[in-house]
Amino acid sequence: MKFVDEFREPEVITRTSEEIRRLADPRRHYRIMEVCGGHTHAIYRFGLKDLLPSNIELIHGPGCPVCVLPMGRIDDGLSIAQDPNVIFAAFGDMMRVPGTQGSPLEHKARGMDVRIVYSPSDALKLAQANPDKHVMFFAIGFETTAPSTALTLVRAKTQGIHNFSVFCNHVTIIPAIRAILDSPDMRIDAFIGPGHVSTVIGCRPYEWIAKNENKPVAVSGFEPLDILQSIVMVLRQLRANEAKIENQYKRVVPWEGNRAALRAMAEVFELRPYFEWRGLGFISQSALRIRDRYAEWDAEQRFEVPGVRVTDPKAAQCGEVLKGVLKPHQCKLFGKECTPEHPIGALMVSSEGSCAAYFNYEHRKTATLASIASVA
Ligand code: SF4
Repeated sequence: MKFVDEFREPEVITRTSEEIRRLADPRRHYRIMEVCGGHTHAIYRFGLKDLLPSNIELIHGPGCPVCVLPMGRIDDGLSIAQDPNVIFAAFGDMMRVPGTQGSPLEHKARGMDVRIVYSPSDALKLAQANPDKHVMFFAIGFETTAPSTALTLVRAKTQGIHNFSVFCNHVTIIPAIRAILDSPDMRIDAFIGPGHVSTVIGCRPYEWIAKNENKPVAVSGFEPLDILQSIVMVLRQLRANEAKIENQYKRVVPWEGNRAALRAMAEVFELRPYFEWRGLGFISQSALRIRDRYAEWDAEQRFEVPGVRVTDPKAAQCGEVLKGVLKPHQCKLFGKECTPEHPIGALMVSSEGSCAAYFNYEHRKTATLASIASVA
């Protein structure tokens, strides 16, 4: 399969893995953060850790949008949908994320009108098909998904669809990386930059990481060879005492980003002064809200929202895992009270959550090259 098989080629993977071992200084311990949850998933799924020397530690970053959403926002969205005239529409990966009174799916079992949609425009179509109801789309995601929410709001306004709104939880990646670098308990040597987000924002917004923080970044694709090549790129930089932004994912990521998508976002969204992230706390200018000119389609302006802050259950260590301070299996609840069937934290729900990825693939103690080539 084009753009898949060549990135799982056993011989090339062997050579790249050897190159990593050659580049890694045995006297040094490397902490490399993969920012994106998609990379975390791929690392566990393909057992890539086992292809690295033991002095390279991969730290899982905050790039899983479901995982970083605090419980209070889920409660807020569900509180709007207590109104029997409201249909709660969201992506499938939101459905099992726990709020304090249960997940959207559990609310559905109790009678709430909860629907899975595959895109914001599906939610808009749902509103058109149900003119007697109000459809509220629970929007999450980084800059990857924000443009499609923006375009849907433009369409709702242009077509005069008034029984539709968006509960906006879109977040932005750069302030989260800044918060991690500012965190005293973090020591990151280099970043594997997020591939999906970068298709929209490009590579330029990361330049300060190299310039001001002296950390290498390689924006990476999601196949095994993409990730291994990105590790080679940052190790080469560290060895040469350099820090720059490299684009490993050139086949998808334009350096300047997607201008049309950025324009659509600028038309509809503005930065919130601050937003709460699970595990990272309040981060200034780290999330998007809907501009006043789209107020009619902003669920937060249209409905009463409790806005109560809710902390995670005491024993749940999602925050520490999100910051990369703990590995998933080091959480006291991992695999016992908290499993993919009975998740306590969001990191155990989403396929991009590090706890779910670790739980589902940890049996893969040794990656074999044959297994990498055969993963569908
Ligand atoms: S095991 Fe569950 S509670 Fe613990 S960090 Fe992971 S998701 Fe959170």
